[in-house]
Amino acid sequence: MGYDRRIMGYVRKILTDNHPTLRKVAKKVQLKQLADPLFQQLIDDMFATMYDAPGIGLAAPQIHVSQRIFVIDLADDEPDHGPLVMINPVFTDTAGSVEATEGCLSVPGYVGEVTRYEQVTCTGFDRFGKKFTVSGDGLFARCLQHEMDHLNGILYVDTAKNIRPAETAEEQAVAEAAQSGGGSLQAAELGNVGALSH
Ligand code: ZN
Repeated sequence: MGYDRRIMGYVRKILTDNHPTLRKVAKKVQLKQLADPLFQQLIDDMFATMYDAPGIGLAAPQIHVSQRIFVIDLADDEPDHGPLVMINPVFTDTAGSVEATEGCLSVPGYVGEVTRYEQVTCTGFDRFGKKFTVSGDGLFARCLQHEMDHLNGILYVDTAKNIRPAETAEEQAVAEAAQSGGGSLQAAELGNVGALSH
């Protein structure tokens, strides 16, 4: 069960600097595409790119593919939320409101506070075309919303308050996609704080 990190795809370049692809509304995936080995390779490449960054979420537009796909893996922080692929995701329910600090692999070096739904329910398709639904709150809900925004050409800086260069160790951890073992950080696209030694 779950994605085997040893089966690596190819690390692709992550778009930054408001690249036009980051600003497009991504196209729905046709489910017949899933049978194409190149499509399956794309998903493997998304995981490889996310782990390499390192990050906890990546949307296809971030690697110059304007299609409605994102991957998430919060397992380092939340064992229940390991590798996840969502194709053509939609939110079917949302509740509450909560503010937290976020960073983004496509806006490196910065953080800001974003208000998001506290809880979301998201329905989509897995890489084999099976429909499924996930619900959650906390970091998981935040990550789903951050990645969904990427599919709609939205970056967190569009709505964030107090956007600033990451300065404290915690902010740098968020901005550089790093994640503490303590699990206290609330941010999208985090990685491993162990890599942040300075
Ligand atoms: Zn992002």
